[in-house]
Amino acid sequence: MHVITRFLRFWYLQNKRDLPWRNTDDPYAIWIAEVIFQQTRINQGISYYRKFMGAFPHIQSLAMADEQKVLKLWQGLGYYSRAHNLLHTAREIVSVYQGVFPTDYQRLKLLKGIGPYTAAAIASIAFNQPCAAVDGNVARVIARLYGIRDPMNSTKGKKKIQTMAEALLDNNDPGLHNQAIMEFGALHCVPLNPDCLNCGLKLYCVAFQNDLVDTLPVRVKRSKPKIRWFHYLVCCYRHNEATQVLLQQRLAGDIWNGLYEFPLIEADTEMELTTLVEHPVFKQIIQDKQYVIKRVSGQYKHQLSHQKLLVRFFHIEFDEVCYNSKENHVSLINESNLNDYPFPRLIDRYLTEMGLSGKGY
Ligand code: SF4
Repeated sequence: MHVITRFLRFWYLQNKRDLPWRNTDDPYAIWIAEVIFQQTRINQGISYYRKFMGAFPHIQSLAMADEQKVLKLWQGLGYYSRAHNLLHTAREIVSVYQGVFPTDYQRLKLLKGIGPYTAAAIASIAFNQPCAAVDGNVARVIARLYGIRDPMNSTKGKKKIQTMAEALLDNNDPGLHNQAIMEFGALHCVPLNPDCLNCGLKLYCVAFQNDLVDTLPVRVKRSKPKIRWFHYLVCCYRHNEATQVLLQQRLAGDIWNGLYEFPLIEADTEMELTTLVEHPVFKQIIQDKQYVIKRVSGQYKHQLSHQKLLVRFFHIEFDEVCYNSKENHVSLINESNLNDYPFPRLIDRYLTEMGLSGKGY
């Protein structure tokens, strides 16, 4: 066994965190954990993991779940395609594989939402298959240990890192090894100011030996995020002390597929109120009803991975039932039922700030 591999195993057994998915070889539990924690820190995601496993403790329960319920549990985690893919793949495993996970890497990788990293994690941890799982933590550790200067998000850099990860793999216990190197990256060889002086690998670490710890790993800079201007029409109808709010469901092909929001006017730039009221969407929503624009919010900035949203909310009140169209996925929802709907974090924040969170005034 490579000396680095032996060290990582030893270090992990001394330092690993006691996390719920570590005490199981159930591929379903491992899969859910790997998908949630791909883009989310452990302390932020752990309550989501517990809620998700509480609601859907096995693959059959997830396969039978209603999409809206899955999205509601995912609300706030972002990257909603992950939730759609989980549901799709659970249904496929139940219908095509009789509810039993494929055990090998290649077949796992054919499932929607399961890429090379997740397939290697499931195959090694649940089925003891010798596959090296390389996530961001592992890539950082390897780039530093071996002094890899090619960007870790370039094809060349990824290939070099994957080759070294495979060379370090403990073929007798690949699941433990993969978790060990990931945990070492998450807790010790951290992105900023790792404690190299107290690191058991410092003698073998090219980055430490050559004073490159702060420069490795290298990343190719992403292009500037696209800017989008959203103008939300928050249409409220008050009747007998109750409030109804107009919501629409987002469709596939853009961000937030399947989540709910207010009727939206998107433009290439910020729109003045005088221009907004002339917009065809505004006219379609208002029709010939009496309305009052009660307030216009300040600008909200919402950062997504490749996009930046600049958003204003136009709070509009009606004295009579406003536009409502099942066909166009637009419906008036009672305020007391709003908590049943999955929202993007931005909309949820606005509803809460306005006292429209479904908990009453
Ligand atoms: S010496 Fe520093 S950079 Fe190298 S593996 Fe250890 S913590 Fe990471």
